[in-house]
Amino acid sequence: MSAMVPIEKPEEKTIDEAAKLMIKRAEELEIETVYHRFDRMQPQCEAGLRGLCCTICMMGPCKLDPAIGVVRTICGSDVDTIVARTLLRKIAGGCGAHADHAFEVAHILYLLGKRGSEGKFPYKVADEEKLTTVAKKLGIEIEGKKVSDIAKEVSEKALEDYGRVHSETLNFLKAYATRKRIEIFDGLGVLPRAVWREICEAMHRTTIGVDADPTDLLLHGVRTALADSYAMLIATELQDVLFGTPKPVQAVANLGVIDAKKVNLIIHGHNPLLSMEVIEAATSGEMSSLAKDVGAEGINVAGICCTGNEVLMRFGVPTAGNVLHQEMALATGAIEAMVVDYQCVFPAVTDVAKCFHTKLITTMPVAKIPGAIHLEWSPEKADEVAKEAVKTAIENFKNRDAGRVYIPDVKNKCVAGFSVEAIVNSLGGTLEPLLKAVKDGDIYGIVGIVGCNNPKATQDSSHVTIAKELIANNVLTVGTGCWSIAAAKHGLMSLDAQKMAGERLRGILEKLTIPPCLHMGSCVDNSRILNTGFAVAEALGVDVPDLPIFGSAPEAMSEKAVAIGTWFVAHGVNVHLGVVPPVLGSEKVTRLLTEDIAKHTGARFVVEPDPKKAASLILEHIANRRKALGLSS
Ligand code: SF4
Ligand code: SF4
Repeated sequence: MSAMVPIEKPEEKTIDEAAKLMIKRAEELEIETVYHRFDRMQPQCEAGLRGLCCTICMMGPCKLDPAIGVVRTICGSDVDTIVARTLLRKIAGGCGAHADHAFEVAHILYLLGKRGSEGKFPYKVADEEKLTTVAKKLGIEIEGKKVSDIAKEVSEKALEDYGRVHSETLNFLKAYATRKRIEIFDGLGVLPRAVWREICEAMHRTTIGVDADPTDLLLHGVRTALADSYAMLIATELQDVLFGTPKPVQAVANLGVIDAKKVNLIIHGHNPLLSMEVIEAATSGEMSSLAKDVGAEGINVAGICCTGNEVLMRFGVPTAGNVLHQEMALATGAIEAMVVDYQCVFPAVTDVAKCFHTKLITTMPVAKIPGAIHLEWSPEKADEVAKEAVKTAIENFKNRDAGRVYIPDVKNKCVAGFSVEAIVNSLGGTLEPLLKAVKDGDIYGIVGIVGCNNPKATQDSSHVTIAKELIANNVLTVGTGCWSIAAAKHGLMSLDAQKMAGERLRGILEKLTIPPCLHMGSCVDNSRILNTGFAVAEALGVDVPDLPIFGSAPEAMSEKAVAIGTWFVAHGVNVHLGVVPPVLGSEKVTRLLTEDIAKHTGARFVVEPDPKKAASLILEHIANRRKALGLSS
């Protein structure tokens, strides 16, 4: 490994004070982080940045460069084909991740329903009201049925959406999407038939010598992205059934939540099936007394990424940070164990863990990392695995080297837990006050800000700048994923942040006692934002693109973000991207995504790396939509 080149200006890498300190601390200990590795990759390949390379078959790799006349690959593909093909594969990858997560959740509900009250099973229905709401939406008769039978029927409807053979569309799409959107999807021929089928077809179309038509490839991208959105919706709805629908809850965010006096256990990843069990184990009397036996004051569980969001939303478990904080948390030297499930877990975490006493524990059959301990989760053994993970952390406390512990004292208060149900509840049980505020202009518009961190952008800078600009202009912001953690870390989800809002929005926030940026959950919970859009559109009697709303992914990096952005656009929500996606090598594909698609779905992608300019574009769009609806400016 070549020698580490120190980062001269950490403030160019992140606006997070804790991360700035940890970059320097990591360098003192000669620990490489994502930022150091990013710098070593520079300059990144221009062809890759523009989407102009292909490695699909072994005649390749092929790299196009129209500037010097290289316009056809070995198989004869042109720029439009390879850019569209690569994009479709990214959407399929993102859909695969969300869909596999949702499948496991649906399968747990199925196993639970099938067993009824027989035998021991770690999972139960935590929210019967949500279960009956979902069942009714799906047209399931519930009168006189046992909870377990309803759970089984709901799960079967979800599982059917994966492998349906005949060309109908998804049960969950039919139950949740507006009529207007279904007509549009049908007209475009993009109604997804079954989740696995769309992913499989995407891989088939993009293998060598199949689909070369960029428009056709992108249309299948839309179809696969729609499969993604309803798989995410399955995950959200059924997780609420299993673990409870989130309600507003107080919490704390950033690395300062790590507690030097306690056993620190970080949970990281996306699927709450194990992390919920970890929380249960860590809060048990048995584990608390074991922790005291080893000289700790207790057990402190903190989250990273969306597994963290799931437990933050439901129990107020503190969040240590978003995706670029994973190595920073370990570099504090105070983490006894990091328990990971899957997605967004950098393989580098084992290298950082090795520099300390930290145990890195993988848990999912599909996600193992060399150098980690593997405690395999299974539905029947979830509680035992969680207990073993917590015990491993406790037993490791004695190995901590107090002299190497460095925890930045940086944290902020936040309020999380704004499910659609919680928002309606805070409005007094109906959407009417929200609609009135939108009509009157007290809420000028609503913007969903979502997505990752990406070292191509200064961490959290665009997330925070866009949110601040919007709320100052009376726009309510809602969001998920790593944006919501950024907003929490920087104080935008505390009630104190009401003062950053424009005067009219502030009045509403004070009345409802809510912050200006609402935490709606993990990445799969983008489905909550979609459902909010559907509800507002139906209440106003218009289609989604007519609303004064916008979506933004200021620092996106994951394939999952590509799939999510595509389905937001398909549902009629314009999406701003702050990181340029690898499509600029094809003018045709770029035009399809940023212009032509709007003729069909009513929305398009807008790419703008400058967050202030992006906020202005969003505000201009909202102003136009308000004018078209005849609402006050
Ligand atoms: S599929 Fe075509 S463009 Fe891709 S690597 Fe093979 S020959 Fe090259
Ligand atoms: S927002 Fe992006 S980086 Fe963050 S957890 Fe989700 S997919 Fe991963």
